[in-house]
Amino acid sequence: MARTKEKQLISIVIPLYNEVESLNELYQQINEVVKANKYNYEIIFVDDGSDDGSLDVLKKLRQKDKNVKIISFRRNYGKSAALAVGFEHAKGDVVITMDADLQDDPHEIPNLLKKLNEGYDLVSGWKKKRYDPITKTIPSKIFNFTVSTLTGIKIHDFNCGLKAYRKSVTQDIKVYGELHRYLPVLAHWAGYKIGEVIVQHHPRKYGKTKFGISRFLKGFLDLLTVLFTTRYFKRPLHLFGTVGLLVFLLGFGITLYLSLLKIIEGIALSNRPLFILGIMLTIVGVQFISIGLLGEMITRAYQHLETYSIKEIHLD
Ligand code: UDP
Ligand code: MG
Repeated sequence: MARTKEKQLISIVIPLYNEVESLNELYQQINEVVKANKYNYEIIFVDDGSDDGSLDVLKKLRQKDKNVKIISFRRNYGKSAALAVGFEHAKGDVVITMDADLQDDPHEIPNLLKKLNEGYDLVSGWKKKRYDPITKTIPSKIFNFTVSTLTGIKIHDFNCGLKAYRKSVTQDIKVYGELHRYLPVLAHWAGYKIGEVIVQHHPRKYGKTKFGISRFLKGFLDLLTVLFTTRYFKRPLHLFGTVGLLVFLLGFGITLYLSLLKIIEGIALSNRPLFILGIMLTIVGVQFISIGLLGEMITRAYQHLETYSIKEIHLD
């Protein structure tokens, strides 16, 4: 159904974990923006198992304003889970996500929507000027550069909480574990068009960050998951087979070379560390290839679970 811009429903999805001091202020700011722009909207707060009274504050907001909706987890499941459930219940044609800690500015919503209407499916905020400690900004720069290089997606800030999605994207993309950092990557690989706008960022006013230093190790491991599941899921042998074959050939070459030396020149093999390296590489290479083959077998077995992101269907 083609809706006019005014009539489209906007779902604002906000994951939160122990953000009690920020919630009223956040609500006021959002209210200002949606009223000024006459949006048709809902605000879905996803309480990720807070134990600081956040839920009570949300319930008070809902008593006054039925546009406020609440989903509350029994325990803390993580930001990705909160987003996934928020996406599931969002009714909007467009879904906006933002953090609850007042670091993301609701006044950027119109800019995100404007960019989305230029023909993008997902528009990510770019905290060009960031108000975070240096221990976070520098690793984050490295993270963004790495992800952008490896995936070919030309955006600067993958993990910005402030994003706008077309409904089809939020319905299509499965975000679990801690993959929220990679939402643009998942969407890109499903064939969606990704855009970016520079957004205003603020220092954290209340409370403290919910992600410690472990975010970087986890983020890196998740990058492997994302690359593997999006690029190589359907062809594990391409990844493991290539690596395995190279390693095997190297190992085989070394052992062959040493064997020839032994046969032709009679040089003993027993005191040559290179020989051990050669044998090891040969074995590791064979193992990699075997893992690739096993991967192929598993992929075959689960072939029926394969999903494709379909844009339109015309059959009759
Ligand atoms: N958050 C959440 N569940 C968690 C951790 C965080 O819903 O387990 C929310 C948090 O309340 C905030 C957003 O995710 O609204 C971003 O978290 P935070 O501000 O701590 O991250 P940072 O800004 O330090 O990257
Ligand atoms: Mg924050």
